[in-house]
Amino acid sequence: MDILIHTLSGALVGSLVGNLARRKSVGQRLLLTLVGAIAGAMPDLDAVSMWSGFDRTFGAWFSLSESGRQIFSGKHWYSHHGFSHSLFAALMLTSILAAFRKLFFRQQSLRQGLVYFLAFFGGYVSHLMGDLPTPPGSWGGIRLFYPLDHYVGGWAWTWWWNNYDIFLLLLSGVVFNLLLLLVRKVKFLKSSLVSAVATSMVVLLCLVQFHLRGPHFDYVRRNNEFGSMENRSLDIQRRVLGESLYQTMRNFDLSISLNF
Ligand SMILES: [Zn+2]
Repeated sequence: MDILIHTLSGALVGSLVGNLARRKSVGQRLLLTLVGAIAGAMPDLDAVSMWSGFDRTFGAWFSLSESGRQIFSGKHWYSHHGFSHSLFAALMLTSILAAFRKLFFRQQSLRQGLVYFLAFFGGYVSHLMGDLPTPPGSWGGIRLFYPLDHYVGGWAWTWWWNNYDIFLLLLSGVVFNLLLLLVRKVKFLKSSLVSAVATSMVVLLCLVQFHLRGPHFDYVRRNNEFGSMENRSLDIQRRVLGESLYQTMRNFDLSISLNF
């Protein structure tokens, strides 16, 4: 999945936690959404090995024998889909966040920060879940249970890119949850329950979309099917969204300098 979808899935989790949290101001609930969004994007920091300056910086500093490109598609713990795509990393980074919070807010108990840790952990894990249904690539999935060597996922339900329908579903969920955050003072509205139902619906609809895609995207690496799979994925989007919405999303995709 691309970084925009991962950020949105994290924001969805964060905004859900924001709606579930008790005795928090609107500002604090919005902060929870932001924490989830940042955590959702974090695992892909391991793609730094694809950065054009990687070899002359990190590669030289650590005397790495492989190029950044080789590292990216390899199976080292620091390769893409390695350590950073594990539950261990999610727990470790959440613990570091808790330690920093304790350092800067000494007068507050860890329990008071629990919702922030939950938003962070949940946002991070949402990224890992989002990578499971993508093609196996050279890794065969993600190293979810690091330090075990086993890779999980690579289910190939969907292509890596142009999952515009998933993007729009997640965006709708985040906007809905944020609106709930703002109107939660209306007493008869049980924001937490409505938010939990809405979030579950979004996840369910994403799963339905994956299963309506047809044949799997079993791209491993350099099997000369990259172009045809990309085109098939775009055709699916055109069919699902309709020509007008598809063109809007396609233009947006082409206008940003991110893989989307
Ligand atoms: Zn990822």
